[in-house]
Amino acid sequence: MLTADPLASPVFDAHTHLDAMAHRAGVPADDAYVAEQMREARAAGVVAAITVGDTVAASRWCVAAAGGHPDVYAAVAVHPTEVDGLTDDDYAELAALAGDPRCVAVGETGLDYYWDRTAPAAQQEHFRRHIALAKSVGKPLMIHDREAHVDVLRILREEGAPEQVVFHAFSGDAAMARECVAAGYLLSFPGVITFKNAPALRDAAAVVPLEHLLVETDAPFLTPHPHRGRPNAPRLLPLTVRALAAAAGHDPEVLCAAVRANGTRVFGLPEMGD
Ligand SMILES: [Zn+2]
Repeated sequence: MLTADPLASPVFDAHTHLDAMAHRAGVPADDAYVAEQMREARAAGVVAAITVGDTVAASRWCVAAAGGHPDVYAAVAVHPTEVDGLTDDDYAELAALAGDPRCVAVGETGLDYYWDRTAPAAQQEHFRRHIALAKSVGKPLMIHDREAHVDVLRILREEGAPEQVVFHAFSGDAAMARECVAAGYLLSFPGVITFKNAPALRDAAAVVPLEHLLVETDAPFLTPHPHRGRPNAPRLLPLTVRALAAAAGHDPEVLCAAVRANGTRVFGLPEMGD
């Protein structure tokens, strides 16, 4: 099993996909699997995780998982590359899931111009509907932005952003990071920040104040160095925490304390102690 040295100060994983991890491992995405993953995470200092939906069915799974595990929280949405064919009934179910007390965000939603799969116009229309949903339930918007920085920021401006906005797997440069901070958004950094070929992402992290920082795995994807290419898991988050702390110029303990405080302020997570 891949591992990372445990953190001295606890932190939470702001964006993961526990169901997709199980699917990738070829095992059932059941309560035993979730409990095992969270037990391993906790041993590494990762005391909670937000598991994120990318379809209606996955969102349903996330809320159920969060309901059964006190250290798991849900985010619900349909990923921009999965929006074709979404119906009003689907949105009604998403709204009900988003209103669940264990759901702490609407996401991941946004724009993805990397995969040439879903027309940008359709993605944009559904992104707007997700923004409206986040506002209607009063929960943070968790954004997926892949090669679509300009349009994501424009649509947020046009619609009026929800009170809390989190860029999951932030992939912009320092200029975009400054723009996001100025708008009050939070930036969640993934394992990419450990990659040798990601100096621009480390430069971006360096301009983000602690109150705007989050850290995530996006497991089973974006596995940090030196495990790149293998399946990611919340227990590997310490590798990303240390790289982000170094890039942002903080001790890891200081970063972890800030991330915990941000999780409580933005997502309403209970205080995670030290
Ligand atoms: Zn994701």
